[in-house]
Amino acid sequence: MMSLKIKRRRTKIIKVGKVEIGGENPIRVQSMTNTDTCKLKDTLEQIQRLYSAGCEIVRVAIPNEKAVKTLRDITKESPIPVIADLHFATLLGEKAVLAGVSGIRINPGTFKDRKNLDRLIEVCKEREVCIRIGINAGSLEPEIFKKYGFPKPKAMVESALNWLNYIVEKFDYYNLKVSLKSSNWWDTVRAYQLFSKVSDFPLHIGVTEAGGIIPGTVKNTLAISQLLLKGIGDTIRVSLTADPVEEVYVAYEILRNLNLRRLYPEIIACPTCGRCEIDLLKLYKEVEKWARKIKADLTLAVMGCIVNGPGEAKMADLGIAGGKGVGIIFKKGKIIKKVEEKRLLSSFFEEIEKFLKEHPERLQN
Ligand code: SF4
Repeated sequence: MMSLKIKRRRTKIIKVGKVEIGGENPIRVQSMTNTDTCKLKDTLEQIQRLYSAGCEIVRVAIPNEKAVKTLRDITKESPIPVIADLHFATLLGEKAVLAGVSGIRINPGTFKDRKNLDRLIEVCKEREVCIRIGINAGSLEPEIFKKYGFPKPKAMVESALNWLNYIVEKFDYYNLKVSLKSSNWWDTVRAYQLFSKVSDFPLHIGVTEAGGIIPGTVKNTLAISQLLLKGIGDTIRVSLTADPVEEVYVAYEILRNLNLRRLYPEIIACPTCGRCEIDLLKLYKEVEKWARKIKADLTLAVMGCIVNGPGEAKMADLGIAGGKGVGIIFKKGKIIKKVEEKRLLSSFFEEIEKFLKEHPERLQN
């Protein structure tokens, strides 16, 4: 068990529907649907999959009136709070709020009509809908862009503070969170660090437009970990060009490795070498698929050989190691069973279930 202890920055507590963010609340995991919002069935199915994976808040894009019409049913059926993602269209925002969303994400710099923006903020305040001020390096207001000449972290922070102060002072409204995203992970980190020195509003962190599973996971892990290690960040989204459910798995993997939240079993697996006599990749994939269905604080191991496997994975609660035609199941490094290769997986899963019955405290949720 890791001894890493992170001292979190104390932020204001805000609410997105029933989900509290900030203060001492767990770091919340968010994602965004990539279905056509107008397609109710597809969108609800994806939200359900995200929820089952542990997603706590979901954002949906609202590009047009048609999407707003579907939103009422989405918010009614969704098991988790829904946030409407808006750009340029304040009037659509008002309709989205009336359709029952728990939050909106706006990039205020893209809203040209200040009167409509004010009206949108008023409607959010009336319904206690959370507003995320989502600053994006690529769409800073022209005045700020002119002042800095480049979307530097300082420019992003100035833009966020201007909007934050505007909403707080003019509307006396505090159910707000902030994001300062850039596709450059280092600028993202700098922007959040600067901002957290001058404001205690909760922060939604992550790297935008980070790419597919490999580059996106690397960039997000670098940025999110740098920030979380400094205690910065109240809610995370790992943006990936992939099935959004993967974003949730990566988010929990980051949190577990920082000792901040354990939802899924950890899987230790060897890289294999010339001693491996089984198809370990296949075995690993099966174990991973199975492990994603159980939410438990467990460490499992999938090792390539009987001789070194149990010793190399002593820290695992339970593990398997494969040999020629046979495999073994071990518990904390000690062999408890030897089984035929074809029964290795099913026996392993039975042993895990038995272990969880004996240790119900390991189950999460
Ligand atoms: S467990 Fe065995 S197969 Fe895997 S890396 Fe170690 S020695 Fe090689």
